[in-house]
Amino acid sequence: MVSWLRANGKILFRGAALLLAGAAAGFGLGLFFAVPAGPGCQESDLTPVPDTGFASPAPEAAPASSLPQEEPVPEKWVCLTFDDGPSKTTPAVLDVLNAAGVKATFFVVATGYNEKYLPLIADAAAAGHQIALHSASHEYSDIYQSADAYWQDIELLKERISPYVNTASLHYLRFPGGSTNTVSRRYGGRGVMAELKQQCAEKGYAYVDWNVCAEDAVGGKPSAGTIYRNVVRETGKQTQCIVLMHDSATTRTTAEALPDIIQWYRDQGFTFCRVEQVLPAP
Ligand SMILES: [Zn+2]
Repeated sequence: MVSWLRANGKILFRGAALLLAGAAAGFGLGLFFAVPAGPGCQESDLTPVPDTGFASPAPEAAPASSLPQEEPVPEKWVCLTFDDGPSKTTPAVLDVLNAAGVKATFFVVATGYNEKYLPLIADAAAAGHQIALHSASHEYSDIYQSADAYWQDIELLKERISPYVNTASLHYLRFPGGSTNTVSRRYGGRGVMAELKQQCAEKGYAYVDWNVCAEDAVGGKPSAGTIYRNVVRETGKQTQCIVLMHDSATTRTTAEALPDIIQWYRDQGFTFCRVEQVLPAP
């Protein structure tokens, strides 16, 4: 079961069932195993049965001041999240979001290839979107060599994006491949993700997974209609959704699908939130 607990003004989330539902819908079909590894989040790297909710466990006693807002969390909420940007697709994504008055969360990279798009981070932040950490290189074979290698990559990311956002204010991250990825075992052994998840709390980060996957970064370049239907199907009966989408050179159709996705969630009575509004700060 999914449950929310309120304690000392903060919200604790117990959401394993949410992610299991998403996994059953999206990861159990065996559709992703032919996708070659490459830049971007590959769903084939996720284990079919994740062992956690879609975010870090909440700390037992977070100071109230660490909460970004004291606004009540709505009953039905959805966080649109975009991985792997900024990219040449970012302006199209921002145009749709801003026209709709929707705030989203961007888990950014700084691979070098996307260097010329990094100033768009400042545009996104200025428009009220949340900037969060994803990876500098996004190379699984490098970042998952060891816990130290992972944190070095995060530090490099922060250094590269520091001209565009106050990196001291960034407390949310998303592991490439998600927190239950299995690809990391090839490079850092079976314990590396557990070690990293524990270190997140020690270093002041909350990690964020997802329970709705748009499947927009799979092979075959899905159409906007397919991406829309994926989101609707994976949302199912869920009322608290973190939607994984991508913001990359190859996911232009995600931006095309976005107006319909936003309208659908509105029609279902969802409120759009940034991740920091619904998941506790570390
Ligand atoms: Zn990614």
